[in-house]
Amino acid sequence: MPVLQMQLINLSNITTNNISLPSFSKKEVRLDVLRTDKIHPVVSGNKWFKLRYYLEKAAKLGKTTIVTKGGPWSNHIVATAAACKQSNFNSIGIIRGERPPKPSVTMLDAMRYGMELVFISRKHFSENKLPAFITNNEVLFIDYGGYGTEGAEGAATILDYCAKENYTHIYCSAGSGTMLAGLVNAAAPGTFVTGISSMKNNNSLETEIKFLLKEKNKQFGLIHDYHCGGFATHTTELTAFMNNFFKQTNIPSDIVYTGKLFYAITDLANKNHFPAGSSILAIHSGGLQGNASLNMGTLIF
Ligand SMILES: *Cc1c(COP(=O)(O)O)cnc(C)c1O
Repeated sequence: MPVLQMQLINLSNITTNNISLPSFSKKEVRLDVLRTDKIHPVVSGNKWFKLRYYLEKAAKLGKTTIVTKGGPWSNHIVATAAACKQSNFNSIGIIRGERPPKPSVTMLDAMRYGMELVFISRKHFSENKLPAFITNNEVLFIDYGGYGTEGAEGAATILDYCAKENYTHIYCSAGSGTMLAGLVNAAAPGTFVTGISSMKNNNSLETEIKFLLKEKNKQFGLIHDYHCGGFATHTTELTAFMNNFFKQTNIPSDIVYTGKLFYAITDLANKNHFPAGSSILAIHSGGLQGNASLNMGTLIF
């Protein structure tokens, strides 16, 4: 497998885009989108932020190899592969399920970044029965999705790239909740942070987020109504919304996370959830590589 020519992470590409759509302007609500998706074509915005302090830790401890786990279309897997390549670590991805006859685009990209893929059964994956090599001295293991204190601390630095005091609300998508925890930790005192869970009935999410909070009783929002069928599924209503959102704003989104985020914020605005004068910052956390799982032509971008 030829190693992919590395395009470096470029944090100076991050912009804050003001979105003018009737759903918001009619209600006198301001919506800005923080474009962390622009730091790299493949590495998901938030994934790189979540990884940065794990990699620093690995370097400090003299580790040579990063091992992590994820599903066959995991943004975290490919982001880890690319970040390790950029920082000269070996990387191993433990993938849920049998090795498929034809690797997913995500797996191919990860391998091109030099990642070795190891497949384990769904059962062992969910029971967290991982190969013994993860305890080697050379290895730093990073949990699923980058969940953990270092992940949240890295995600908190996303808000260094905007004027965070300007917002009454911050909205982000939530998978493991690591990014949400980091944003809650870093938000200005007057800002309320809310996550849109992309999974169905993820009942442990709130507890997992609270575990990562610096001030344990700091309030945050978590909305479970916009999973659009579940984590790995999507509705035609969602893809139609994403196409329409792109037409109006020129902002691409993904079916697992950011599409659901923009859909949720728009629906909430239409339902008068935001008082006039609110200013919302939505975090575009990237994830566009996951759209490669869709049939050609489903999306117009
Ligand atoms: C992984 C991911 C998320 C979820 O982040 P968590 O910290 O796991 O909640 C959100 N958006 C995108 C694009 C992602 O790839």
